[in-house]
Amino acid sequence: MECRYNSIQTLGTVDGPGVRCILFLQGCPLRCGYCHNPETRPLEGGITATVNEIFERVLRCRNYFGKEGGLTVSGGEPLLQAEFVRELFIKCHENGINTCLDTSGCIINDKVEALLSVTDTVLLDIKMTNDNDYRRHIGCGIENPLKFLELTAKKNVTVWIRQVIVPGVNATEENIALLNDMANRYDNVKLVELLPFRKLCKAKYEQRGEEFVFDIYDTPTKELMASLNAGLDKGIKE
Ligand code: SF4
Repeated sequence: MECRYNSIQTLGTVDGPGVRCILFLQGCPLRCGYCHNPETRPLEGGITATVNEIFERVLRCRNYFGKEGGLTVSGGEPLLQAEFVRELFIKCHENGINTCLDTSGCIINDKVEALLSVTDTVLLDIKMTNDNDYRRHIGCGIENPLKFLELTAKKNVTVWIRQVIVPGVNATEENIALLNDMANRYDNVKLVELLPFRKLCKAKYEQRGEEFVFDIYDTPTKELMASLNAGLDKGIKE
């Protein structure tokens, strides 16, 4: 079985527990206004590789993983290639390597459910907390991400919720209260991480001749991030 991937990062420390190898798969059906990696969105392109070829790369990082680290599969949207990721995660588990899936939760089917059975941690981007904002800024409804969260609870997979905070869009106490309620409804959600909106990706859009639609919004201050984070029971404590 082959995947289409965009890149591999060998020593990541912000995408899951411990030190991790991160595979960025190619292709995403969404169009988030703040997307940091627009080059991973087209379904065509990327590099093809087999499960064994990717696994060889993962093995080369193994000495750095320690007790917690392992492989994270990100994107793009990894759920588009759920069968491949499942094969890869099975191979990781056979070799005692921890598995983590970084996803928007926008696709629900049997293959996705089967993938969750071999996933140790899900980094779930709950991008907005209401359907209107999802449709306006992300390109899908809120229904599937909520169903996906429900599925992780049913399968008892550890979840870290993440949300990019954009002033003028979702940087409000009301939004954080909704996110907090959502996280508190599920025992398998262990952490909620707010990420500040950044514009470092702007040059990528220019190079690609695409519009960076969120250029109209400001980036949040440290103080704003801290005050929103204080409204989360499962937030990251400073
Ligand atoms: S889900 Fe991720 S890769 Fe896809 S458009 Fe949104 S930010 Fe970009």
